Amino acid sequence: MVQKFGGSSLRDADRISHVADRIARERATGVDLVVVVSAMGDTTDQLLDLAARITRDPDPRELDLLLSTGEHISGTLVAMALHARGVPAISLTGAQAGIRTDSAHGRARIANVDPSRIRGELDAGKTVIVAGFQGSTADDHLGADITTLGRGGSDTTTVALAARLEADRCEIYTDVEGIFTADPRLVREARLLPVIGYEEMLELAQQGAQVMQTRAVELGWVNGVEIAVRSSFSEHPGTVIKEDPFVEQRNKVRGLAHDRKVAKVTLVAVPDRPGVAHAVFAPLAEAGINVDMIVQNVSHAGTTDLSFTIPEADLAKAKRLLEPVVRGLGAKDLTTDAAVAKISIVGAGIQNAPGYAARMFGALAAAGVNIEMISTSEIRITCIISRDDLERAAVALHRAFELERPEAIVEHPARPVARRRAAGSRAS
Ligand code: ASP
Ligand code: MG
Repeated sequence: MVQKFGGSSLRDADRISHVADRIARERATGVDLVVVVSAMGDTTDQLLDLAARITRDPDPRELDLLLSTGEHISGTLVAMALHARGVPAISLTGAQAGIRTDSAHGRARIANVDPSRIRGELDAGKTVIVAGFQGSTADDHLGADITTLGRGGSDTTTVALAARLEADRCEIYTDVEGIFTADPRLVREARLLPVIGYEEMLELAQQGAQVMQTRAVELGWVNGVEIAVRSSFSEHPGTVIKEDPFVEQRNKVRGLAHDRKVAKVTLVAVPDRPGVAHAVFAPLAEAGINVDMIVQNVSHAGTTDLSFTIPEADLAKAKRLLEPVVRGLGAKDLTTDAAVAKISIVGAGIQNAPGYAARMFGALAAAGVNIEMISTSEIRITCIISRDDLERAAVALHRAFELERPEAIVEHPARPVARRRAAGSRAS
C-alpha cells in the first residue's frame, strides 16, 4: 500500500507523532507500506521566500535542490518517530527511491520509476518513507541533478509509486475528509462524496478545487490507480477517485468548484482583422501566462472588445506585456478587473442531458448574480462573476442542483450478469 501525508498533517512534532502512530497501526496489520511525505507545514513557501530575499533570479538548479530539502526533513523525522515505536523504517530521497525525471527544473515530469531500492527495503521488512515532490535526472554517479515536480507534486510522486509498485491501495491523507460537493467553507450544506470519477475530479481540480494536484489525477486515470482521499485526523473512509461505472445514474451535477484568484482583462475596441488575437496572446504565452476563458464580442464598425481571464498573480506582468500591444494595434483601452471569481458546475452526466446551462443561469439570476463570462466543456459549465457574489452564487447553485441530497444509485440489473459472463462462467 502507498500512503501520502500532506504538509498540514506533518506541521509540527505532535502531528508527526500522530502520523507515526497511524503508520505503525497500519503496518501492524502486516501490509507492506510505502509512505510519501510532503514538507512540514509551510516549509516550501518559506524556502521560496528565503531564496527570493537572497536574489530576484535564483538559479533553477539550486532552487530545486533547496526546495527538495523540505521533504527530507519530514521524511527523516517520520522515520525516527517510527523507530521510536519499534517499527523498522527507512527514509529515502526521491532520487534514492528511483524517481527519474526530465530536467525541467521546477516542473519536472517523471520519466520512469526504478523500484528496486524500495522493493529491497520492503523485503527487508522496513516501512519505506519517500520524500515527495522530487526526483533526479539520472543515477547519482552520472552527475544527476535534483528536480522538483511543481507545487503539490508529492501527490504525483504518490500515484506514480502506487502505479509502478502495483499497490493494491493508494491513500492521500490531508486535512479535509475528502472531496465535497462544494467547499464547505463556502457552502454549509456541502456533502462528502463517497466516489468521484477521474474525469470529474480532474475538472474540479482544474477549476479551483484544491485538494489534489491535477497531474496526479491524470496519472491515476491513465494507470487505473484508485485514489482514496482521506483525513489524517479521522477514521472516515473519505472519497475514492476511480472509474465510475454508475456515472449516468448519479446526480448529473457532481459538484461545484470555485476560484477567487482570477482576473479579467479587456481590450476595448480593437480593430477586427486577422492577426489581432495572435498579437495579443502570443506574448502572454511566451511569458508562460495561462489564459483561460476568452470572449470576443460581435464587431461594431470594425472594432470589437476582447476579454479573457488569467491567474490574478500574473495580472501585473500581463498589463506590462499588453500595453505596447494595445498601442500598436490602435485599440481604445486596456481595462482589468481583479475582483472577479470563477464558479463551475461539474458532472460527467451533463453531456448527456440538455438544460443544464439554462438551470445554472436561472439559479444565478434568481440569486441576483450577474454573469460576466461563460465557458463550457463537455462536463462543465463555468461562469465569471463578481467576487462579492461568489458565496451567494455557490449556495444558490448547490440548492438548484440538489447537491445536498445523497445520490440514489440503482444498480442496473444487467451489469452483474454481463460481468459474470465476461469472467467466463456458463451463464444460461
Ligand atoms: N511541498 C511541496 C509544496 O508545498 C510539495 C507538496 O506539498 O506536495 O508544493
Ligand atoms: Mg504542500
